[in-house]
Amino acid sequence: MNLARFARARFAHLPTPLEPAPRLSAELGIDLWIKRDDCTGLAGGGNKTRKLEFLLGEALEQGADTLITQGAVQSNHVRQTAAAAASFGMACRIVLENRTGNQAEDYLWSGNVLLDRLLGARIRTVEAGSDMNAEMALDAEEVRAAGGAPYVIPGGGSNAVGALGYVDCALELTTQANDEGLVIDHIVTATGSAGTQAGLVAGLAVSGADIPVLGIGVRAPRDRQEENVFNLAIETATLLGHRERVSREMVVADCDYVGAGYGLIDQGVADALTLAARTEGLLLDPVYSGKAMKGLIALARQGAFEGQTVVFLHTGGAQGLFGYQGELGSML
Ligand SMILES: *Cc1c(COP(=O)(O)O)cnc(C)c1O
Repeated sequence: MNLARFARARFAHLPTPLEPAPRLSAELGIDLWIKRDDCTGLAGGGNKTRKLEFLLGEALEQGADTLITQGAVQSNHVRQTAAAAASFGMACRIVLENRTGNQAEDYLWSGNVLLDRLLGARIRTVEAGSDMNAEMALDAEEVRAAGGAPYVIPGGGSNAVGALGYVDCALELTTQANDEGLVIDHIVTATGSAGTQAGLVAGLAVSGADIPVLGIGVRAPRDRQEENVFNLAIETATLLGHRERVSREMVVADCDYVGAGYGLIDQGVADALTLAARTEGLLLDPVYSGKAMKGLIALARQGAFEGQTVVFLHTGGAQGLFGYQGELGSML
């Protein structure tokens, strides 16, 4: 597979470390390793940085001068996009959706929102349930009318171009495992807008790595999540010229750990955050990696990974912790 034929801007700190987690492993009775994609380097890092390398590659190739994207109020994707725009001297317009209805001061202004503003993004907020693609199209029209050249990035950077970032991660991870002599039985990741899991599935399938990926859902029910991931994995594999190598059974999502809804924290998430922090000094986030860890902990305790070596993909997001000071603070 030749990823070098796709346009790419290089700014991520790669490869990210693959680290053992001995104390959390002992706690869960499995051999757990952490792939540190929280350390990708872009203004706090996280999984969107890998996607943005390919998205920025395309944007620069098209001569864009303004990045437009959207997300939930505490979106990590938005923060990383704002940082990428700043570092390439581009303008950045953001549409935020108050998807959770959370009106706490910290949620609305601290965490990622403070960083978005610091990074110079122009932000407007719309109601929950708004048509976010239509909202971004309005911004793009305005930019064009003023003589600018907009490049619109879908929520989470999740299209086939963005997912190439996780094809690259799949190759990087299997190379590290080969170097370490590590046989990976399972990769576990949070799955939301689907690009991360789709890219991993496509990358592993096309390279013939034969490692199952389990996505822990943070929003949609299982059927819809698996369908979104599968469709995007097929699109990504098609872009790579190997559509036939991705099959439906390669896409598995467990959406039993969403709790009350997207971005809503519960005691199980708080317990997962504290366990990771207090056994490994590892900071997870309340919306994605903390929920995925809540799922991983529950599944490990049910014996789902008995005798297995599991790699947990740390997708980042700790900057969002500060948006949850009130609620999380009371659960510690
Ligand atoms: C966006 C995000 C995810 C989910 O990745 P998708 O590609 O949207 O499925 C997971 N973790 C963090 C911290 C994120 O910001």
